[in-house]
Amino acid sequence: MASLLLKGGRLVDPATGTDGRFDLLVVDGRVAERRPAGTAKAGPAGTKVLDVTGKIVCPGFVDMHVHLREPGHEHKESIETGTRAAAAGGFTSVACMPNTDPVNDGLSATEYVVAEARRRGVVNVFPIGSVSKAGKGEELAEIADMVRSGAVAVSDDGRPVANSYLMRMALEYTKIFGIPVIDHCEERSLSAGGVMNEGFVATVLGLKGIPACGEEIAVGRDLALAAMTRGRLHVAHLSTRGALELVRRAKNEGLAVTCEVTPHHLVLNDNAVMESQYDANTKMNPPLRAEEDRLALLEGLRDGTIDAIATDHAPHHADEKLQEFDDAPFGIIGLETAIPLMMDRLVRPGLIDLTRLVSLMSATPARILGIAKGSLAVGVEADITVIDPDLERAVDVAAFRSKSRNSPFHGWTLRGWPVASIVGGRVVHELQAAAGH
Ligand SMILES: [Zn+2]
Repeated sequence: MASLLLKGGRLVDPATGTDGRFDLLVVDGRVAERRPAGTAKAGPAGTKVLDVTGKIVCPGFVDMHVHLREPGHEHKESIETGTRAAAAGGFTSVACMPNTDPVNDGLSATEYVVAEARRRGVVNVFPIGSVSKAGKGEELAEIADMVRSGAVAVSDDGRPVANSYLMRMALEYTKIFGIPVIDHCEERSLSAGGVMNEGFVATVLGLKGIPACGEEIAVGRDLALAAMTRGRLHVAHLSTRGALELVRRAKNEGLAVTCEVTPHHLVLNDNAVMESQYDANTKMNPPLRAEEDRLALLEGLRDGTIDAIATDHAPHHADEKLQEFDDAPFGIIGLETAIPLMMDRLVRPGLIDLTRLVSLMSATPARILGIAKGSLAVGVEADITVIDPDLERAVDVAAFRSKSRNSPFHGWTLRGWPVASIVGGRVVHELQAAAGH
């Protein structure tokens, strides 16, 4: 395999405690050498040289919460288009949720995802198996089989595991494999029929609300089960101040709990539904919350309570999202906007620093999933994300690699974009506009 020399970039690699200017040599798909910038020796004959002066070089970003929609909903996304969107967005690994059709609840479904990702995927794909058979919440799925064929976690994401006993079994059983249960926390008896956050804005708009306490009840129950079973619980798309406080307390008590938040819950609140005049691209589950929740999440990023940022990339066809707000499906795409949003809205104003961002979007999600990613130590597979912190451009959904366009961020001007994605030493995406920049 060809070798690659990334010259002069700022290497930000929290896993090795690195933040400085280095030349990075990749040979045979692995990191071969890291030397202070300007001191690299020429690589083997035919080495491709990328001048990344002024750019940030970091371990490939890992999105631990993605819906690739295949099999069953290929009109929204496929493994091929979803992984292209990931590469364009600066992600070199994604973990995909099992709520496809059929649901990934056993050996053959997991094997299908792994095989299709190998055939047509352009970034690494790590399947997440379901907790329950067909995602119905009644009996445990074939967890051992799925883990053997490559599943890195289990989740019934899209719906909660309503049955407490089943959740207890899942937390106990997954301990054998050392994998987390990824928890979609929602008390359906409270959220049923709701389409946005319950509160002032929902009242003004006359829309049925989804109360914050429905998430908190579910988080509270599952933290209690995690404490009893000593299983590994990972709270997906945490969105409320109260749920965050419960996780903070559980961590202080030494529980093996982790959590993720989405970029949209960090930059938008429920006012977006009103301001966009019922644009269904502001409808997701959990819903955009109140400003006090958003501010609490920012605090959780700073104090370390939040472990990961994950997109919950949820593609839907334009026709589905063009329905009335009440009828449109929940969810937005996120792979191609996450990095610029977080660079522009978190790093640029100084809410968090680059090292923390790379931890949240690469090193820590990799650790939670138990995959050998998230580091650029010498010898590791060379999955690399290159970011231009000064590149400013507008989000244009028409140019997205995803099959879907359901983003509330169209037209936003953001600074700090991924310009190259490298998987196993191969450049799988390069932003042409940045060449020679
Ligand atoms: Zn979910």
